[in-house]
Formats: sequence, C-alpha cells, structure tokens
Amino acid sequence: MRPFFRSPLTRRTRYGRAIYPTFRNMSTPPTTEVLYALTVAKSPARRSPEDVLEKSHHGKNGFRNPWESFRDMDSKDIMQMMITRRLKGKANNPDTTPPTVTVRQPEFLPSRDTPKLRATWLGHACYYVEFPSGLRVLFDPVFEARCGPCCGPYHLGPKRYTEPPCQIKDIPVIDAVVISHNHYDHLSYPTVSEIAKRHPNCHFFAPLGNKSWFHSSGIKNVTEMDWWDERDIAMSPKEGKDPQVEPVGEASTTADVKARISCLPCQHVTARSPFDKYKTLWASWAIESGGSKVYFAGDSGYRAVDELPEGEDDWDPKYNFPICPAFEQVGEFRGPFDLGLIPIGAYAPRHIFSAAHSDPHDAVHIFKDTKCKKALGMHWGTWVLTEEDVLEPPKKLKEALKKHDLAETGVFDVCDIGESREF
Ligand SMILES: [Zn+2]
Repeated sequence: MRPFFRSPLTRRTRYGRAIYPTFRNMSTPPTTEVLYALTVAKSPARRSPEDVLEKSHHGKNGFRNPWESFRDMDSKDIMQMMITRRLKGKANNPDTTPPTVTVRQPEFLPSRDTPKLRATWLGHACYYVEFPSGLRVLFDPVFEARCGPCCGPYHLGPKRYTEPPCQIKDIPVIDAVVISHNHYDHLSYPTVSEIAKRHPNCHFFAPLGNKSWFHSSGIKNVTEMDWWDERDIAMSPKEGKDPQVEPVGEASTTADVKARISCLPCQHVTARSPFDKYKTLWASWAIESGGSKVYFAGDSGYRAVDELPEGEDDWDPKYNFPICPAFEQVGEFRGPFDLGLIPIGAYAPRHIFSAAHSDPHDAVHIFKDTKCKKALGMHWGTWVLTEEDVLEPPKKLKEALKKHDLAETGVFDVCDIGESREF
C-alpha cells in the first residue's frame, strides 16, 4: 500500500524508485523545501551472538570492554608517559607544515536520487554518506578548529592542521547524525547544535548514556542504543515549511525511505571530563538502506600491545597479543558490508594507544573480520593526537594491505579530505 499522503514534489520512475526534486540552483536551503517526517521504531529481533544477553560490557558504574584484548590505562598515566618520552627525547613531534593532506571542496549530490552508495570524507572521523534510498547520514561531525572543551572564552584541545572542506551550511540534507562516542574529536556541541538548528527533522543516534547530554544541549530527537540494538528508520515527505519534529513512533512500512541502523561493539573508552570515564558507552554502527550496507567502526582499538624494542613488528607470531573478538561477531551477524569506514590513525606509540586506537595493520584485520568488501580510512589527517607522522597512516595502510595479499589500491583506500567515492 502506498502512503496516504504523497508529496506533489515526489515522482517515481517506472520501476517504482522515487524521483526527488533536485536541489540545484535553489536559492534557499533545500531542506526547507522538502521536509521528511522521520520515525524510529524497534526493529524485529535478528540473530545475534549468544553472549549478547549477558551484557558483560555493562559495569557497576558505567561500561567496560569485556575482552582480554583491552588494557585500561589511566589518563594521568598516559599523560605522564607522554611527558617522560618528551623529556627523554624519545617522542616524535609530527611536522604539520603544509602541504600535508589535500583538502578539496566536496560536491554533494544535487538530489536524493542516488544511483550508487556514495561516501565523502569531511576530515578526521566525519563521513557524509549518501545511500541509494535517498537517506543522508553524517557520522561523527566536528567542524570546529579545536577538538576540546570550551572553558569560557577559551576553546581547548589540539588545533586542526587541515581545514574543514566545507561548512555545515554547505551540506544540503542531513537526515541522521550518528555518534560513535563522546570524545571531543567525535562529538562537538557547536556542531550538533548548528545541525539541529539547520535541519530540525534530523535525528541523532548515540550509544547508551548520551541522551541526557543531547537533551541538555536542546536536542530532543535523539535515540540512544546499546550494542546489538537495532532500529528501523522510515521517512516520508511532508508538505509545508513547518520544521516540526515528528514524535518517535512506529516506523511506516510504506515510507519512501527506509533504513535499519544497528549499534555494534568496538573497543574504546569515553570521557568528556576527568570525572566521567566509562559513564557513557562507545560503539561502532551499521546502516542498511536502499540495498547498501555501511559499517562505521567509530574509534576503536583491536589489541593491547606491550612496549617492544624500536622497529619490532608487533604482529610477529611470537607475540600473539589477544585480539578483540567483537569484529568477527559483527561480520558474522551483520556483515557483509559494501563499505567500511575504519580508523587508521592516532596510534603511536603502540604500548600507550593500541588498546583504544587501531593502527593500519589492525585496521586491515578489522576490515577482514567485519566482512567489508571495500573500505575507506578515517581518524587521521586532521588533528595531531599522537606521535606518528601525519602522512604515515596511508603509507602503513599500503604495507598492511600488501602483507594481507590485498591490492594496494581499490580495496581499502584513503581519500582526500572533501573527496567522494562511489560504491
Ligand atoms: Zn575516542
């Protein structure tokens, strides 16, 4: 059955695919022209790993990584180790003098009529994904110069060495924003506030424990989810310019745009202050819409590596550090994926950062475990968070692909900031 209300702006091809009005040459922001009522509903239960009901990642006072592959480190200890390395002259100070990563102006599709899955890297962990269904999703958007807390007039945290390729106002449509966790390089108050203002129908998805932060930021249309939770998204065009947010309710089976979003595990930590470590959950995400499946790995480690002699290969079989088993489960129960967005940066030195951040070698393992057919790298090229040289991640990625007998290009690529790839 077709929806009772059909926008006069929407036509269909003879194969039934919706032809949406184009946004080209529109003088006003396009989302005020065509509004979509978005509903979010619980998905029917799907096959999940047997241990899911144990909720072993729920701790007494927050959340935990329930695997041997993780090693907890106090942020004070991390800081101290980094300072000691600096004082001993062991630390590498990455050179950010231009040119580093190429930044280009992104070109977004002029309408929701999308022949293929399309992903545009907007720097660090931010990807804009255009699904063939017409759905438009922004992952981990942060558009500020610094990623850190605002203390009065001061914005703390590292400063970008590459510019954002566009501003929020340049993105024509944002239906959903998906947040991996609450670290400042993934969740920014000024960014999400501006998105909510410009796109009042936009729905925000975040892992457990983040809802109150969104509510106190004035954002009501948020769904927080636990690992292996799923929701069905349905969108139908609605008439008028009233940016009223639809209440969350039952997903329509006859909607023009449908999607399923899955909150999935990964290995990380969370905190926005010295007092809230592990209080909110971290997650990777999968979205299936219009016949395409995307896996967003968020920010994740794969193994915890000991301090090894300089130049030693931590993947040498003699070490055998335990790996995070969650990614194989993601692949088995939710894969395969047409596209994986996988972190490759912020990894050095390994004995300090490996538990929470994968390096390119770990990233290729994540790519294989989760059964991604293609992947693009992220979590690099924007802020200096760790000691590796800023252009090292793509070089190491090529080495890792070679080691796994995968083609060095066309399988797991890196792109320019602002560049779009089709799949
Ligand atoms: Zn993080």
